Amino acid sequence: MSHNVLVLAGDGIGPEIMAEAEKVLACLTRDHGLDISMDHALAGGAAYDDCGTPLPEETLQKALACDAVLFGAVGGPKWDGLPRELRPERGALLPLRSELALFANLRPALTYPQLVAASSLKPELVSGLDIMIVRELTGGIYFAEPRGINTAESGERVGINTLRYTETEIRRIAHTAFRVAMQRVKRLCSVDKENVLEATVLWREVVMETAAGYPEVELQHLLVDNAAMQLVRRPKQFDVIVTTNMFGDILSDLASMLSGSIGMLPSASLDENGKGLYEPIHGSAPDIAGKGLANPLAMILSAAMMLRWSLGLPEQADRVENAVKSVLEQGLRTVDIHTQGTEKVSTSQMGDAVVRALGEQTINGMQA
Ligand code: NAD
Repeated sequence: MSHNVLVLAGDGIGPEIMAEAEKVLACLTRDHGLDISMDHALAGGAAYDDCGTPLPEETLQKALACDAVLFGAVGGPKWDGLPRELRPERGALLPLRSELALFANLRPALTYPQLVAASSLKPELVSGLDIMIVRELTGGIYFAEPRGINTAESGERVGINTLRYTETEIRRIAHTAFRVAMQRVKRLCSVDKENVLEATVLWREVVMETAAGYPEVELQHLLVDNAAMQLVRRPKQFDVIVTTNMFGDILSDLASMLSGSIGMLPSASLDENGKGLYEPIHGSAPDIAGKGLANPLAMILSAAMMLRWSLGLPEQADRVENAVKSVLEQGLRTVDIHTQGTEKVSTSQMGDAVVRALGEQTINGMQA
């Protein structure tokens, strides 16, 4: 079955890393039977420069119609002075997430054996680390009303945000997390703050109700403060973590640093039917844009997540992930992950190496 993928390269290093991910997908199409068609559109600052809006209607319509979106990164100093709603991240990424109803954010934190030394924690704590954080993305305190900065009768200003979750919102993210856990080692930790926040008392109740449909999954609950501590103390105790929008925002950044470089980590944002937007967790890195310094592996691994989660092609995803492991094994490193004794390569050399490693899998008949 042919799949239709929309490519939004964006700004800064976005187009550079996207070119490498496209090379990899082209190789799978040419040599490994992948059947996809790729369309391209503008988003972010590039779209603003071209047509005065960071998310043109044509881009939105294409995103709504396709099977999956591959997203580079948007933003940069050039557009920082624009009104908030026209700034690339706020004006392109956030509306895309809400228009496509992408309520589930999957962020792996994985330490490759070859990059253990790049972590800020001791090697024995992170070696073999493989966590998936499932963050609720379209509800909770980042979206609920009332919100704003008001002036009280006393004349004092009051900042207000509201933590609100419906049963439906909690149940659908819980189902996603249980399904992810079923595909892994069947262990799920739900993180809340039920000792203080009523909305997360409900969170815990609904997660427990949902668990009845997944008797094989071992479910644990942790308060968020404890979860943060445990992630640094003994991160390998976790497999899948599910949590609210704000807690997930913070914990997933924390977890990403356990695994070394921001240039290595992909992410997926999924809707109820598995359609998704796939992007590296990093931004557009304007400081290194155009210099061939960007690490394209997070983007390439985002494409692998797309193959696995939206296109239902786990063998193709395995191929890409194995090829990435292989280039790391060969000692090839972009500058962000370079250490003594390894070979420094550019963005495109890294992409070429992944393509070569895919070819070697064919030659060796390596099991994908
Ligand atoms: P950033 O993630 O772009 O960069 C942080 C640091 O990490 C920089 O030193 C950068 O050079 C480095 N880095 C990032 N990706 C890398 C890669 N693939 N290879 C090597 N090094 C890499 O974060 P920032 O500097 O805070 O933001 C820059 C711009 O990106 C801002 O305009 C911000 O709004 C935007 N941004 C966009 C997204 C997105 O599109 N999803 C996310 C975060 C930030």
